[in-house]
Amino acid sequence: MNTIDLINFSGKKALIRVDFNVPLDEQFTITDDNRMVGAVPTIEKILKDGGSVILMSHLGRPKDGPDDQYSLRHIVKHLAVLLNSDIHFAADCIGEDAIAKAKALKPGQVLLLENLRFYKEEEKGDEAFAKKLAQLGDVYVNDAFGTAHRAHASTAIIAKFFPEAKYFGYLMAGELANAEKILNHAERPFTAIMGGAKVSDKILLIERLLDKVDNLIIGGGMAYTFAKAQGGQIGTSICEDDKMALALELMEKAKQKKVNLILPVDTVIADAFSPDANTAVVKAGTTPSDWMGLDIGTETAQLFSDVIKNSKTVLWNGPMGVFEMKKFEVGTKAVAVAVVEATKNGAFSLIGGGDSAAAVSKFGFEDQVSYVSTGGGALLEYMEGKELPGVKAIYGS
Ligand code: AMP
Repeated sequence: MNTIDLINFSGKKALIRVDFNVPLDEQFTITDDNRMVGAVPTIEKILKDGGSVILMSHLGRPKDGPDDQYSLRHIVKHLAVLLNSDIHFAADCIGEDAIAKAKALKPGQVLLLENLRFYKEEEKGDEAFAKKLAQLGDVYVNDAFGTAHRAHASTAIIAKFFPEAKYFGYLMAGELANAEKILNHAERPFTAIMGGAKVSDKILLIERLLDKVDNLIIGGGMAYTFAKAQGGQIGTSICEDDKMALALELMEKAKQKKVNLILPVDTVIADAFSPDANTAVVKAGTTPSDWMGLDIGTETAQLFSDVIKNSKTVLWNGPMGVFEMKKFEVGTKAVAVAVVEATKNGAFSLIGGGDSAAAVSKFGFEDQVSYVSTGGGALLEYMEGKELPGVKAIYGS
């Protein structure tokens, strides 16, 4: 693999696409810096070699050009702490100021460019825009796994301007290695835990996993589509009616492939989608008509935990309930505890990015699992077997 270990950056200016798309609260405080922390080893290696670093990233979804709410200047201070270094900042990612600041960089110095998505050309994968970015450095490094499934100017198109000088950063390489390990070298028993709101987002992955796993646990909102498909009463729980046939098909496929498909046996129901709703626990498929399921029940949590704890490989993607509300975080927490326990017993555990990563971090377990991916959509697509444009661009000629 083309990683940055192949070169010495002494005297070079490395243009690194990082994924600093971190969540910020109303005071612009970073609430989860996992993605920034993940990029530190790559930056440090380059600086230690005697190179300088130009960082480019997006933040949020600015609609119409520059918007202070999405300015990367909000993260400068924290980046300085993480790197223990001053950070130079260019208030425009292209143009004269960025060029001048990049040119003036000395070995060991770091320049952060303003949000790439202030230009619509970024997401369009515009070649002229990519060329302008490319002028800023003499080596291109992609360490933005979270955006690797996008063919944007800075994640993929830009690579063509560095035919002999494009590399994977350590975060990217680590993400790919861990995903590969799960897909192709999983020790058994291998358990996948799928949750989250919708089954439609994860169908392709579930289908692929049926060829690989011993146990497939399904919880979260998507479980109600399975419950209703089997004739259960789910009240006003989230459900994709048009995916019920597919749910039954997946159950049949699991049976044929001798995969132990495990669905919730009980559920926490609520009389409103609210943190102070009235709640009760009922058997799966017996939810009264004006109630909704917002978490797995205690019996289910126990059932899932027992399977997880006895696994040697665990892949987790999607929460078991509406974990953002305290009343409905219990099932997700129980699963997180079981994953931690399995890891302690020697299992390899990979937490898919997005909401499962947020849950693990909310409960303070990030350091007690094997790997927390920084990519939600990117990891899903990679595991579905799709080629990621950000990865292909580094390999391609
Ligand atoms: P996803 O992005 O598909 O992984 O879905 C994550 C979201 O699913 C989280 O915001 C959860 O609050 C939500 N979720 C999980 N379980 C349920 C449920 N039973 N009803 C509604 N939303 C749910």
